[in-house]
Amino acid sequence: MNFKTCIRCGCFFSSDDLICPNCKTKDEIDKDSLKRFLANNDIPNNYESLSYLSGVSLKNINRFMETKEFSSLKDFLNRQNLNL
Ligand SMILES: [Zn+2]
Repeated sequence: MNFKTCIRCGCFFSSDDLICPNCKTKDEIDKDSLKRFLANNDIPNNYESLSYLSGVSLKNINRFMETKEFSSLKDFLNRQNLNL
């Protein structure tokens, strides 16, 4: 196993993941917040509003958007932005 720098907090850890075990928990909480927000509100048409309204940092939202889990949301927002 290699030592890596966590892309969320910058600490060193050894794992095959991109984020350290501490941040993994935080990521799950952020994803839950994001999903709960999306389930109960209209989807804002940009990431900045989504970050502001859901309380999840833009940096983390951008990272989540690259995962399969949020790919349909990413597609939706991309379409919205094309229409602006
Ligand atoms: Zn971390």
